[in-house]
Amino acid sequence: MLFAEQLSPDEVSVRENPERQALVRSLLHDFGRTFPTIEFSLVYEFRFLNAQALLLGSGRHVKLYGGLAFHNRLGKDALAFALLHEAGHHLAIGSRLNWNPCLACECVSDLWAVNEGASTLHEQTGYSVNIAKAVEELDQVIGQTSQPNPSHDCWALSWLDRKNSMLKKGPPRGPGECRLGELMMRATNARQVEGGGQRPGV
Ligand SMILES: [Zn+2]
Ligand SMILES: [Zn+2]
Repeated sequence: MLFAEQLSPDEVSVRENPERQALVRSLLHDFGRTFPTIEFSLVYEFRFLNAQALLLGSGRHVKLYGGLAFHNRLGKDALAFALLHEAGHHLAIGSRLNWNPCLACECVSDLWAVNEGASTLHEQTGYSVNIAKAVEELDQVIGQTSQPNPSHDCWALSWLDRKNSMLKKGPPRGPGECRLGELMMRATNARQVEGGGQRPGV
């Protein structure tokens, strides 16, 4: 997830703009081609400023919601980053989400998105995501009031910390600082050893 929010009524949507519709279609097509183990799709009618990684049956999915896809202040870079972040939940290796150990934690998904994910997208499509521009655009629309509790939450639940990490400002922060991810990794590893199961997220 980015930050789940319903759009306020005064926020302008460009849903009727044919150019924007073509951009969203082409991004989803490019992402599907670049990361073929994931099915990327648009949920046009949901006005959430969000995207989501989901496991449905044995399939891996990324849903891009209409409120994010057609927000007038978000351009191609912000949308591409959002899709990379969601792909990261499926493909990144490392700390896990507390409610679903088959998906990577927020911090690991961001790190994967700006590094491996962005490089793979560039190799496959020739498109370079401008991370600084993505952060600038998202910064205008993400309103965050509550802060995570550093003693047991993922640090990437703080938008300020998250954007500094994406822009590589300040000391690098990694999953080692994610209290939630660390606990979940231990639990997941213990379960895998017991059950001899597959490594999740691959
Ligand atoms: Zn997320
Ligand atoms: Zn984390």
